[in-house]
Amino acid sequence: MNNNEILLLKLGEVVLKGLNRRSFEDKLVSNVRRRMKPCGSFQIYIRQSTIYVEPQTEDCDMEAAFKAARQVFGIVTVARAVPCAKEMDAIVETAKTYLADEFAKARTFKVESRRADKQFPMNSIQISQYVGGELGQFFNVKADMHHPDLTVYVEIREKYAYIHTPSVPGAGGLPIGMGGRAVSLLSGGIDSPVASYMMAKRGVQLEMIHFASPPYTSEQAREKVLQLARELVPWCGRLTVHVVPFAEIQEEIRRSCPEDHFTLIMRRFMMRLADALAHELGCGALVTGECLGQVASQTMAALAVSEDAATLPVLRPLIGMDKEEIVRIARHIGTFDTSILPYEDCCTVFTPRHPKTRPSLEEIQEAEAALDIDGLIETAMQGIERVVLHP
Ligand code: ATP
Ligand code: MG
Repeated sequence: MNNNEILLLKLGEVVLKGLNRRSFEDKLVSNVRRRMKPCGSFQIYIRQSTIYVEPQTEDCDMEAAFKAARQVFGIVTVARAVPCAKEMDAIVETAKTYLADEFAKARTFKVESRRADKQFPMNSIQISQYVGGELGQFFNVKADMHHPDLTVYVEIREKYAYIHTPSVPGAGGLPIGMGGRAVSLLSGGIDSPVASYMMAKRGVQLEMIHFASPPYTSEQAREKVLQLARELVPWCGRLTVHVVPFAEIQEEIRRSCPEDHFTLIMRRFMMRLADALAHELGCGALVTGECLGQVASQTMAALAVSEDAATLPVLRPLIGMDKEEIVRIARHIGTFDTSILPYEDCCTVFTPRHPKTRPSLEEIQEAEAALDIDGLIETAMQGIERVVLHP
């Protein structure tokens, strides 16, 4: 650990040009600023496709900042670095102290240099040769250009030179806010947190909606969903979970509609409510964790029937994925262990014995006609409770 240590964040999606590039960078810098706030006071700015995160006080938590930076969409790599004067002696001395621990573990090394400042009197090959020679002698470690244990990076920029070790992958994707806004249907399962993460990765700012059916669903089931949302915040940024009371709707469906249509009618209510919320909040789409063929309500025909109840596009990023792929992502983003906690979801409280897998829309609409759809929607919308979760 070095007190001068800073973070260098490299931008992704370099294909973006012109105005897009500009708004990409502006969004990304403001997202990074927001995410770094809980870690201390930092100066954050962008130069030549690199975001510099520089601690302003002693008490900045660099470990936390490093971890947070790796969860910001739009960043492809993250490196820790120390700045020093743009002189060869300073560069060598800085590398000696900053990288002493790394050299103690390495048998071979190489130096890679980059020179953004073309006025600097040595070119990048000369810099690497000079710094490599000095460090090799000092640490008694051999140079290996092909498979070194350690690569030391030297970058000569406008004001300073920077020494850093290899960068690690960032979150990739696009900055949150660049892909529009959407309402994501968050259950307590494995899939919907992954679906939320995937849309956030494409720059979509999310509002979460959850349908809860107390007293059929417990306080723990609700807490589990809020915990999942908390685990998504480092990726998605600030989240609001809109908790919709759903028991009355389910009771009404059970009372008035044929049992084998229960699941699809219920799913159509979820779509209507999410759609209404999206309109209220100015969002442009809905997101679900649905996956083709996973359960009876996720056949192609069933998806068409539930989607019919929404006016906005329904985005289903998991539609073509296998369960193992979804689980791998769930583990990577840190939601898996919470998702498998054994609390009931509103979908599991009134499941019919023989759900329809090939429903026709007319059939379902006919069955629904027994319900006061608008009245039920209005009551549920009025009962929404909002929980805001900050990074
Ligand atoms: P998940 O693992 O996300 O729960 P699933 O495979 O269990 O998905 P379903 O229970 O049929 O499938 O739900 C399909 C999708 O509907 C979910 O991914 C989620 O987007 C939404 N959904 C289901 N239940 C709820 C709920 N209680 N609140 C909000 N959205 C829900
Ligand atoms: Mg589920």
